[in-house]
Amino acid sequence: MSTVWMNELSWVDYQARMTGDKPPVFLPVGALEQHGPHLPLGTDALLSAAVAFDAAVRVGGLVAPTLSYGYKSQPKCGGGQHFCGTTSVDAATLIGSVRDAVREFARHGVNRLVVLNGHYENQWFLIEGIDLGLRDVGPGATLEVMRLEYWDFMTPATLTHVFPEGFPGFALEHAAVMETSMMLHYHPSLVRLDLIPDDGPADFPPYDIYPARSDWVPPSGVLSSARGADAAKGRLLAQEVSARIAQAIATGFR
Ligand SMILES: [Zn+2]
Repeated sequence: MSTVWMNELSWVDYQARMTGDKPPVFLPVGALEQHGPHLPLGTDALLSAAVAFDAAVRVGGLVAPTLSYGYKSQPKCGGGQHFCGTTSVDAATLIGSVRDAVREFARHGVNRLVVLNGHYENQWFLIEGIDLGLRDVGPGATLEVMRLEYWDFMTPATLTHVFPEGFPGFALEHAAVMETSMMLHYHPSLVRLDLIPDDGPADFPPYDIYPARSDWVPPSGVLSSARGADAAKGRLLAQEVSARIAQAIATGFR
C-alpha cells in the first residue's frame, strides 16, 4: 500500500509503518465556515488536507482524517457566526478533539505529529489541545508535535508577487486572493469565479463588541477582494508551502 491517507490503510499496514519507517503523521484542521458566494463551506478543511497531502508525499508521511469543524468564526478574520452554514464548535470541544488525537497517536507509536491548521480562529485551542495531550502521555513519550498555520510558509517574495497591490494581512485574507487561488489549484470545480463579489476591503475598529456586530462585515462574507486570484498563483503558493513544510519536518524534529 502506497497511499498517504491513513484511513485507507488497514490496521496491519498502519502497524507495519509505525514499527517500520515511523512516518510523520499529519493532522489537518479546518472549519465549516462561509467563504463568500464563490468558495465552499469546507474551504479551510479542504486546503489544510490538500497541503498536508502534498507535504506528506514529499516526506513519506501519512495524513490522518481532517478535523473539519473549527472554533467559532470571528468577524475580523472569518466573517462571524451569523452566516448560514458557518457551523462551529466550542473551544472545549476542539481542545478535547486535539487532546484525544495526540494521546491516541502517541499510544500507537507516532513520534512525529504535524498539526496543520487552515482556520485562523483555531490556533490557541490547538496549542491547548496539544499541551494537554502531551501531559496525558507523560514525560517518557517519544512523541513530538509540530503545529503550524500553512500560510506562514509563504515567503515575502511570493506574497509580493501574488499581491502586487499590497498584501492585506492573513486575517483579512478570508475567501480572498490566497484561498481562492489555492482552491483554483486544488479544487477548481468547487470555485465559482463568476460569483466573486466586489465587497471590501473590510474596515474594522481596533476593538471587539459582543454580541458581534454583523453589520461590520461585508454582506458577502469576503473580507478583502478575491479579484486577482488565479490557479497559477495557487500552484505557486501550494508548491512553496508544501516544500517549506517538508523542509521544516526534515529539520525541526529532534
Ligand atoms: Zn478560510
